[in-house]
Amino acid sequence: MNFKWWPIRRFVQLGIVTLIASPLFGLTIFHGNLSAGELFGINLSDPFAFLQATAASKVFIASFLASAVLVTGIYFMLGGRTFCSWVCPVYLLTEWADRLRSRFGTGGRTFSLSGVRWSFSATIIICVLTGVPLFEILSPIGITTRAVMFKAWQPLLLILSLVTIEISIARRVWCRSLCPVGGFYSFLGRISPLRVAFAHHLCTQCGECTKVCPVEEVLEPPLTTHKPQVTSGDCTRCGDCIDICPTQALGVDIWYK
Ligand code: SF4
Ligand code: SF4
Repeated sequence: MNFKWWPIRRFVQLGIVTLIASPLFGLTIFHGNLSAGELFGINLSDPFAFLQATAASKVFIASFLASAVLVTGIYFMLGGRTFCSWVCPVYLLTEWADRLRSRFGTGGRTFSLSGVRWSFSATIIICVLTGVPLFEILSPIGITTRAVMFKAWQPLLLILSLVTIEISIARRVWCRSLCPVGGFYSFLGRISPLRVAFAHHLCTQCGECTKVCPVEEVLEPPLTTHKPQVTSGDCTRCGDCIDICPTQALGVDIWYK
């Protein structure tokens, strides 16, 4: 039996959701949220949240810097948008929405992957101009975390709307084209050494990998020009293409080629 990545990834995703929800059950392993939290006494700051706070306050918050650098270093080694497919609860939600969309045969429009980088830039500019870390208020992760922590359920309607749009109109629109956090990590993913490897001599061009990939454009360069790795920062390192490939033409590289 071939090794599969998806059970491990699902275990990690559900583990993160459990950690976020743990205060509801009186557990104190994890405090905070994915923007700024404390796990086993270690402070972890999301670098994008740090950038927003710095841009909004125009004050360099040195106390957050070390943990933001630590988290940035971890995601650099792990591939950048690894955050999206292994950690972010919204990605998990949109994966399930995509399955429902496939089952119903609805929607399916896609928009440009560069949208996440425009969204990242626009968010930072808005933070500078308004002095408000806007995305911390509006992000689905923030809304979900506050819903769990403070039982503020009404804003969850925004997330329900997003899921409805993903099922009925546009496939994976949040993660592909709107999320500024994904935009930030896509910059990191471009230079990360952890990449999907491609052995073109094993590939039969069956196209199964592009069917399961949430950002299928990233597989075009290897498939069409035989590049030995997926180099796009938009690859979420989810491993779905590796799992589905019938000829093991795809794998994991831990260094540049
Ligand atoms: S699934 Fe594997 S064999 Fe099929 S096109 Fe993708 S890399 Fe090639
Ligand atoms: S190329 Fe493979 S690992 Fe990267 S996002 Fe697509 S399916 Fe996931």
